[in-house]
Amino acid sequence: MNEDLMDILCCPLDKHELELAVESRDDDEILTGTLTCPECGEVYPIEDGIPNMLPPDMREEAPA
Ligand SMILES: [Zn+2]
Repeated sequence: MNEDLMDILCCPLDKHELELAVESRDDDEILTGTLTCPECGEVYPIEDGIPNMLPPDMREEAPA
């Protein structure tokens, strides 16, 4: 994901701004890392450049 996405990404639960922690990047492209919501403490992983913004309740229910 491009770092500019941080301007539009927000916590799906409370719409709070997220804090970015980068693990690996390629210029402006963030490949892996985490997005943390300081409001509710939820952590959203970034894997292969794609932020997983699903609320935690829905992650367990991936279609079989
Ligand atoms: Zn939140």
